[in-house]
Amino acid sequence: MDMYFSADEMAFRDEVRGWLKENLPDHLKTAMANTPSVFVEQDIMVEWQRILNSRGWLAYFWPEEYGGTGWTPTQRYIFEKELALAGAPGLVVLGLKLVAPVIYTYGTQKQKDFFLPKILSTEHYWCQGYSEPGSGSDLASLKTKAVRDGDEYIVNGTKIWTTHAHFSNWMFCLVKTDTECKPQKGISFLLIDMEQPGIDVKPIITMGGDHEVNQVFLDDVRVPVENRVGEEGQGWEIAKFLLENERGGSCHSPALLADLQKLRRQAATQPSGHNGATLTEDGRFREEIAKIELDAQALEISELRILAELAQGRRPGPQTSMIKTIASEIRQRIDHLRVEAFGYDGMQLEWSRPLYGNARAIPVGPEDAQIAMPAYLNGRAWSIFGGTSEVQRTIIAKTVLGL
Ligand SMILES: Cc1cc2nc3c(=O)[nH]c(=O)nc-3n(C[C@H](O)[C@H](O)[C@H](O)COP(=O)(O)OP(=O)(O)OC[C@H]3O[C@@H](n4cnc5c(N)ncnc54)[C@H](O)[C@@H]3O)c2cc1C
Repeated sequence: MDMYFSADEMAFRDEVRGWLKENLPDHLKTAMANTPSVFVEQDIMVEWQRILNSRGWLAYFWPEEYGGTGWTPTQRYIFEKELALAGAPGLVVLGLKLVAPVIYTYGTQKQKDFFLPKILSTEHYWCQGYSEPGSGSDLASLKTKAVRDGDEYIVNGTKIWTTHAHFSNWMFCLVKTDTECKPQKGISFLLIDMEQPGIDVKPIITMGGDHEVNQVFLDDVRVPVENRVGEEGQGWEIAKFLLENERGGSCHSPALLADLQKLRRQAATQPSGHNGATLTEDGRFREEIAKIELDAQALEISELRILAELAQGRRPGPQTSMIKTIASEIRQRIDHLRVEAFGYDGMQLEWSRPLYGNARAIPVGPEDAQIAMPAYLNGRAWSIFGGTSEVQRTIIAKTVLGL
């Protein structure tokens, strides 16, 4: 496998870099830099997505026939790396990267024609209704029930940890349509309009102090049968396809390596406590950041290797569990080191932070320091959502190591 970029790929990189310089507004870069949560706020994402869509680069990983770019996996990697280096806001993975591939792989023509353009235009904003109280890792035990009533299902139950449900007008949802058979066989995949009676979204405030996740209650919610994706009982197969994309749908290393560069810049402004030196001159700090950087570079090589396999037409498979686990751990180590780097300034957990308008008369420390702690706390979720690290390790043990 060739690990170097070709002349065409370098030209592509320059094109992307040049376009970002012209088209990524400063206020979106600042908003991204000040974001303490895993996903950026809806208004930031929507504005950025519309700019990308106007260039035809929003759904860069979709097949061309549905509005994708037709880029090779390497071009996608270069694009993601340039986005990260430029400090662009993250994209709304829930619609673009999670449900869209399900719709164009398993959906009817009518579902493709209706939903895909509205994901591209950001008219539809999606949330994921998988987890329930008591059914997270053991997802097949979910209890939300959909009972057939003519051309509709009547859905009752509750979903939890639903990211951005308070912004969403659609939810893709796993429901039980049959309780008599093996749990996995009785699950179906429904697309639910959130703007209808019977749906109640209650906020859950994270330990970082942010409103990112929710509990969603469904009480006699009516869903047309034509909004079921796939056959009745095919939901588990579709759920696993989606989770594979959630765990490995894009590369993690570009954002991690860009963040490490940022941490180096931040450390250069912080005193080490020895003779007026900065942290970047401190032996222990240098060792810590070098260790993380080496692991992030190793991750990058693994991701490039997987891209080379994807280019041969293979599916990523259980390797996504390894990537997700390692990437989550690196993310958390960076967040941890950043809190340490800011010392006392990094220990604050204020409700008013740069992104939301700093209400404090005299904010403590630089803006970066003010979000270090909430970002660290929210970032603990990396090793939980999309399947916990323990669950990923079990998948690796069974499917990769054959244990
Ligand atoms: C910030 C955040 C956002 C999220 N967003 C969404 C969302 O948008 N939509 C959605 O559907 N869900 C979402 N989730 C839920 C997430 O997928 C679940 O939290 C996750 O699957 C774990 O399930 P649980 O919380 O029920 O924990 P549990 O399954 O109860 O696990 C508790 C602990 O036991 C361990 N454990 C469980 N089973 C095993 C096992 N067999 N072997 C070894 N250890 C085990 C786990 O690793 C964990 O440490 C989100 C979660 C977070 C934190």
